[in-house]
This record gives sequence, C-alpha cells and structure tokens, in this order.
Amino acid sequence: MKKVTVAHGDGIGPEIMDATLRIIKASGANVEFDEIKIGEKVYLDGNTSGITTEAWNSIRENKVFLKAPITTPQGGGYKSLNVTMRKSLGLYSNVRPCVSLHPFVQTKHPKMDVVIVRENEEDLYAGIEHQQTDDVVQCLKLISRPGSEKIIRYAFEYARHYGRKKVTCFSKDNIMKQTDGLFHKVFDEVAKEYSDIENEHWIVDIGAAKLADTPEAFDVIVMQNLYGDILSDVAAQITGSVGLAGSSNIGETSAMFEAIHGSAPDIAGKNIANPSGLLRGAILMLNHIGEGEAASKIEKAWFKTIEDGTHTPDIYREGSSTKKVGTKEFADAVIANLGQAPKTLIVSNTGGKGAFKLPKLKQRPLAKKVLVGVDVFVDDTDKDPEEVAKRLKAIEANDLELLMITNRGVKVWPNGFDETYCTNHWRCRFMPKDNSAIGKADILAVLTNALKVNVDVIKTENLYEFDGKTGYSLGQGQ
Ligand code: NAD
Repeated sequence: MKKVTVAHGDGIGPEIMDATLRIIKASGANVEFDEIKIGEKVYLDGNTSGITTEAWNSIRENKVFLKAPITTPQGGGYKSLNVTMRKSLGLYSNVRPCVSLHPFVQTKHPKMDVVIVRENEEDLYAGIEHQQTDDVVQCLKLISRPGSEKIIRYAFEYARHYGRKKVTCFSKDNIMKQTDGLFHKVFDEVAKEYSDIENEHWIVDIGAAKLADTPEAFDVIVMQNLYGDILSDVAAQITGSVGLAGSSNIGETSAMFEAIHGSAPDIAGKNIANPSGLLRGAILMLNHIGEGEAASKIEKAWFKTIEDGTHTPDIYREGSSTKKVGTKEFADAVIANLGQAPKTLIVSNTGGKGAFKLPKLKQRPLAKKVLVGVDVFVDDTDKDPEEVAKRLKAIEANDLELLMITNRGVKVWPNGFDETYCTNHWRCRFMPKDNSAIGKADILAVLTNALKVNVDVIKTENLYEFDGKTGYSLGQGQ
C-alpha cells in the first residue's frame, strides 16, 4: 500500500480535500494517507516557514504529497510555502494539463488539450537581485545545462509515456542568446533522441499569442520558469476556468500535487467550492505512483459528472447545467459514477501506464575554458560617453584595452548616437587587441588603476571562450 502525505490546508482546503479523499478511497486506489498540518495556523504559531519539522519528515519519508491550498498571512514577512517546498525538495518540473470540457464548461477553445511543462527552480526565480547604481537594479537570469536538460527530457518522456505527439519549446533566444540560446540548443539536442515525437520551437511572444488564439495547435509545451508561470495561467484560464486545473510538481525523489487555485477564503465553509482542481491534482498523483487504473476510473467518473450537468455554482449555467450541487454532493455524484464512462469528453491518455523515471543525466566532458577579457561595470553620473571613455581609457593595464562601452546593453562608445539615453550604469569591455588569452592578474591591474583614479566599479564579469566559442554577448550595435 503506497503511503501519501496529505494536508487539508486553509480556507476551502479542508472541504475540497475531504471530497477528493472520499473519491480516491471509493475508487479502490491502493493508497493510504498520512495527515500533516501546514499553512496559516502553523505560520501564526510563530513558524515563519508555515511548516513544522514533523511535516517535513512525513513528506520526505513518503515522497508523495497531496496538498490543499493554504493561506499565506499578509504582512509579517511570512515566506511562500509553495516556493520553499519546490526549491527545498528539488521539484524541478511543474506540469499543468489544460483541457477544455466543451460543451459542458464554456470556453472559446473547444478543442484545447495542452500540457504546460514549466521549469520550476531556475531562471529569474533564483531571486538574485541587486541595486547597483542610484538608477539601476538588476535581476540575474540563471539557466543551467543540467536544469534545461532535465526539464526538456521530462517533457519528451511525458509525451512518450502519455501518448502525446508533439513537444514545443518556447524561448526568446533571438534576444537572450546565451540563456535562452542554451535552452533552445539543449531542446534541439534532446529532441533528436525522441524521433517518435514531433518537435518545434517558437519565439515565446508569438508562441504565446498563438497559444491564446489557437491552443489546439499545441500538445506539450516546455518553457523556462517565468514564461511557464505566466502562460500556464493563461492556458488554464482559456479552457474555461483556472478553478478546474490541477498541477504536479515533480522532483528526482519527491513530488507534490495540488489544485492551481488558492484557498478562496471568501467561500470557505459554505460547501460551495468546486473540488475539481484538487481532484485533478490527485489524478496526476495516482498516475505518478503507478495507480493509473484508479486515476483513469476517477477521471472518467469526473468527466461523466461534468457531462451530466451536475455542477458546483462556479461552473453552473442555466440551460447547459442540470443540477446545482455543493462540494459534498459533487463528490457523491463522482463516486456514484465510478465505473462509468463519459460519452463526449475524451480521457486524456493518462490512465493505466504507471509512473515514469527520467534516464540519468549524462556526464559531458568539460569544455576548454579560456579567459579573454573582462566587462567592468561602472557607476558614473556623467551623461557623455566620450567623457566616461576618457576616464576608462586611463585605467587600461597590461594588454587590456578599452574596446567598447554599452549603456543598458546598447553600444554608446566608440561611435555612439546622441539620441541614445544613458543612465549612470556603464559596461566597459576590456580585451587585448590581439584577442589573446589573459590572466586574472591583468584584471586586477585594471581594477587597481580604477581604485587609484576613483572610477566607481560596481562589478566585473569575466569574458570566457568555451572550446573556442564566445561565452558572452556582444553589445547591441557592436
Ligand atoms: P483564489 O484562487 O483563492 O480565489 C480567487 C477566486 O476564485 C475567488 O473568488 C474564489 O472564491 C474563487 N475560487 C477559487 N477556487 C475555487 C473553487 N475551487 N471553487 C469555486 N471558486 C473558487 O485566489 P486569491 O483569493 O488570490 O487567494 C486566496 C489565498 O490563497 C491567499 O492567501 C493566497 O496566498 C492563497 N493561494 C494559495 C495557493 C496554494 O496554496 N497553492 C495558490 C494561490 C493562492
């Protein structure tokens, strides 16, 4: 018997979790539940993380967690428990299936059946931010090869496992050639290993427009963290309601399943909340732990209940719905339908196949890394690039010469435009004229000169080549 940790959460959490657990038990799934307390009460008891050591122990021991939504108290510096869990447990993959329930739930996209696979740990969500000058702040976008490979491989394995035909990658590699460029490159490499699955790449802006307009053109879409965060909400919403979607957060050892909505305190305790989002999270969980048969049985019964027009108030519509029911009664109806199949809605190929594991990441040989220059970032309130260049030329040292200056990425020296607006944040690139390798001591010599003449260096970035390939971006207009 597989043990699963469950948390009833806050607001509508207890009601929808009771409904969900009753349905799981009635389905005959081979699971038992280990109850933990997390969320508002734990926060207010003085635990700023919202979770106790005992609760962590249960999750880490059982490795599978079904979580109802929780309320993060406003103010008081309480950390988001969701972010803490994803990062602490290494839940790198956030999977959100978004399928239309047309004509039973209203949507402009009756044929939509998209699975968003979102990278959950990297990107701008590393939360590494700095103010560098009076005018300029920075957030570091970190993308790793292993992180990209893991999420992209997950998307292809998911597609293969669940009989999906195509994996699409969204990125912005026309602009971010290093970060998004790496993600796209890894996508192309991994895609070659899955010749049975179609693959394609879209620039994220036009891809997002296409997704909002013609979602039926997509099947599985894999994205970095920020694009995935935004577009998975868009995708869920355009199926008819965010309230109907569940999601899984998958790591190498643990997994967490939930509804995508929050704790809805405005309707808590009234027996009117729709338990479908959490129930769909539970269906994903059952598939993950190898209880595919029970997952399929519940999904069919749930589809049948939706088709029958037995609807909670959030999706009830005069004319198309037949019976307005509460949370408990909706669960009763799903239980009564266990063993039956829907007439119109198509079960999304998730049943009966068990969990899947990613192959181990292959160790790649390290590239030859050569230091070829340095970008020195400088805070200078002068508005004239020529004046800034004069000061920066004065700190040249050894073979390192000032090659260019950019302001917010645009080349402003040499030969800049008067029209380009300049902040007090300057990137000054020093390289040897003959493109030869340099040493760290050469960089130190430049920085020592800067100190002597009061040039305000705010940070440096080393410029490397990896196996002879440039590992840094050029200035716009360079
Ligand atoms: P929410 O998703 O809780 O509610 C938004 C609206 O949707 C409300 O009108 C609510 O009544 C309705 N709604 C949500 N789920 C519903 C359901 N199952 N059935 C019927 N109607 C439903 O978003 P919010 O109001 O912005 O957030 C409330 C609390 O939830 C906050 O404390 C927030 O931090 C928390 N939250 C938690 C999670 C999580 O635990 N995963 C996610 C998002 C928000």
